[in-house]
Amino acid sequence: MKILVVGGVAGGASAAAKAARLDSKAEIIMFERGEYISFANCGLPYHIGNVIKQRDSLKVMTPEKFKGRTGIDVRIKQEIVSIDPDKHEATVKNNDSGETYTESYDKLILATGSSPFVPPLPGVDDPDVMTLWTIPDMDKIKERVDNGVKNAVVIGGGFIGLEVVENLVERGVKVTLVEMLPQVLPPLDPEMAAILEKELAGKGVDMRLDSQVSGIKRDGDKLAVEVKDGTAIETELVVMSIGVRPNSQLAKDAGLKVGERGGVQVNGKLETSNPDIYAVGDVIEVNDLVMEQPAMIPLAGPANRQGRIAANNIFGADEEYKGSLGTAICKIFELDAASVGASEKRLKQAGREYLKTYIVPQSHASYYPGAQPMYMKLLFEKSGNILGAQIVGRDGVDKRIDVIATAIRGGMTVFDLAELELAYAPPYGSAKDPVNYAGFVAGNIINGVSMPVYPDALPENSVIVDVREPDEIACGAFPESIDIPLGKLRDNLDKLPKDKVLVSTCKLGLRGYLAECYLREQGFDVRNLSGGYLVWQLFHADAAPVDPCCSASVAANHTESSEIKDIPVEATVEVDACGLQCPGPIVQVKQSLDAMNPGEVLKVTASDAGFAHDLPAWCASTGNKLLTINNDKGIITAMVCKGSAEMAAVSNDPVKKRTTIVLFSGDLDKAMAAFIIATGFASLGHEVSVFCTFWGLNVLRKDNPPPVKKDFLSKMFGMMMPRGAKKLALSKMHMMGCGTAMMKYVMDSKNVDSLPDLIGKARHMGVKLLACDMAMNVMGLSKEELLDDIESVGVANFAALAEKSGPTLFI
Ligand code: FAD
Repeated sequence: MKILVVGGVAGGASAAAKAARLDSKAEIIMFERGEYISFANCGLPYHIGNVIKQRDSLKVMTPEKFKGRTGIDVRIKQEIVSIDPDKHEATVKNNDSGETYTESYDKLILATGSSPFVPPLPGVDDPDVMTLWTIPDMDKIKERVDNGVKNAVVIGGGFIGLEVVENLVERGVKVTLVEMLPQVLPPLDPEMAAILEKELAGKGVDMRLDSQVSGIKRDGDKLAVEVKDGTAIETELVVMSIGVRPNSQLAKDAGLKVGERGGVQVNGKLETSNPDIYAVGDVIEVNDLVMEQPAMIPLAGPANRQGRIAANNIFGADEEYKGSLGTAICKIFELDAASVGASEKRLKQAGREYLKTYIVPQSHASYYPGAQPMYMKLLFEKSGNILGAQIVGRDGVDKRIDVIATAIRGGMTVFDLAELELAYAPPYGSAKDPVNYAGFVAGNIINGVSMPVYPDALPENSVIVDVREPDEIACGAFPESIDIPLGKLRDNLDKLPKDKVLVSTCKLGLRGYLAECYLREQGFDVRNLSGGYLVWQLFHADAAPVDPCCSASVAANHTESSEIKDIPVEATVEVDACGLQCPGPIVQVKQSLDAMNPGEVLKVTASDAGFAHDLPAWCASTGNKLLTINNDKGIITAMVCKGSAEMAAVSNDPVKKRTTIVLFSGDLDKAMAAFIIATGFASLGHEVSVFCTFWGLNVLRKDNPPPVKKDFLSKMFGMMMPRGAKKLALSKMHMMGCGTAMMKYVMDSKNVDSLPDLIGKARHMGVKLLACDMAMNVMGLSKEELLDDIESVGVANFAALAEKSGPTLFI
């Protein structure tokens, strides 16, 4: 038997090696037009990123080693340029010499793979516009990065595009990602891809979604990537990764049947339309096992398995390649994104009926350090048949997607998922594994026990009933909802409208489901918001806070996180909330802070991954200050400075415009300016605070204060300083009081308010007057001597106010 194998990487090398194992006497020649056989193309992006340090480790096999092990005649840089099926002959071109020769065969295996698609746009032939498919492609890109390329544009946000983005960013390259679709990673549905988009944005990737490139122009040593919206992105390097096309021209020319998508058509045995020619890998059309239609699924796993099956069948087996599910996974910085089967988009396009659920379980027992939330979306039919799944998370994603892929492949239903017995110990999973849990929820939906609704399609005349604890709601709230913690629901049924559809929800969905069951029993028309607030956030980009999977945003918001040991603050109170699940750690933080004084610092450790994302939002909305937050192998350590009631009020209304004025001066003209500005901003709707310190405190003094006991120095200060707004003098031209009197006269004649009037008006308009604690102390002033209802605050309070302000003025 003489077998020619065309293509020497995944499918070709597998087929050739298997054939050699089945019959060592067979004459097998493997042709590879490039220089390398059996190389790890999946590892190419990681060598660019220096993650895979040794270039040679990508060469899984050298031609010599392969030949030595298998006896196969490996011919590199030799390209099959035509096949004559009638004569059973192939024409080979030696790519070094250009010479051609023919080789006969009994059986031929086509494993020519696919090539990156490069659209016919102006400028794509520029040497700095590259694709990543082979080792030489990788070398070119890596060389540019090693030589210090500062910025790059990656066109295409699919699996390979995103891997390139990550590895360029890791090498310090500023990357712009241009994607024609409104989302990255098309096998995912948009709301699941949104998690990745946040991660990418958090890592500094400039994302241009919904953007189509119209051409690339060279301008000196720079390129300009022109986008159809009229913008141009200046860059030094372009990596194009917009999909692949099967290398099927050879097959077409040989008269083999090719499908609509350009893939070579094969039967279950992987025979092409000519029974002596087999085809495997990226070049063939496969049966999409879920959609039950031909599809191009260019993945390494299927290519390798198909190679084996083709070889077995050549030697008399009757093996069938039933089809592919498209099980795929990709690392995007600290996130893993995986999918199997059909997406919701595809099911909709095909007009297929489906049910779906979202869950957000932990990767392993939440009380064991390092548990991470994962977003799971499961698509299934009323019968329980599983159609697809998508998972995004930081840990345990690969295991769950593989279990679901196995279940689909084995014809299992969602009811079987619920019953699967999966390995469990706290570091690895939960007694109810995320896969079991997905099965429970899906089963409940099918059985009508739970009636889900989704954030993008809430029922008409409905109202959200949020059963989270108040402290969780402080971490991010629905725009409109009735908020009753689950534990208080029974006592508050009278607060729920009977004439509306209630949409029960919580953070992840479980308490929302419990509320759903109870409320339905009580006669309410109720649905459950699938996936709770966390999934709702995926559909509402503007929702606060960041999603719990997005490591990048935590890093971006808390760049100081790793510096915790260097921050010169000492904790007044320490709390260990490890092992507690949400909202446990937040509740502990609240209870501890409630018992502390403003300015004191709480140190908290927790193992609930969501805490790292909840705490910043909770602090922001409660007026406490998050000093540091650090995640060390799943143990989150945070330092929180207790804020004041004043700050809590400010924080609870983040959208309000604010102005803060520091009134340091005790001069009449400067104080007037301060209050004119304060009332001006107040009239624009700003929340204005005037923080009076040092000489500025005199503005707040009463004309006739009650007698106060003072030491000698305080008495002296009190006597020397002007007592109240009426007594202030001009900063210039005071002239023993004449200048000040003249100014007051002129102001009066021109209907300008006096300072006391201005202060009164300002207070009437809601301007807050704050007295500096420290300055009062220094000057020996007590609260009774100041105007009524003046709050005395410390500088930390002022700083917190200023931080939340637009303008901050020092007068
Ligand atoms: P290939 O492996 O591409 O091999 C085809 C070979 O045929 C090529 O070397 C080509 O030079 C040769 N050839 C073509 N025409 C001729 C001819 N006329 N004569 C002689 N030789 C010829 N898949 C995954 O499942 N997971 C991943 O993580 C993953 N990551 C990837 C990352 C990158 C950067 C790339 C490029 C691909 C990745 N893939 C991944 C896809 C996977 O590598 C392919 O699906 C798989 O290699 C396809 O195998 P194949 O044998 O069909 O084609």
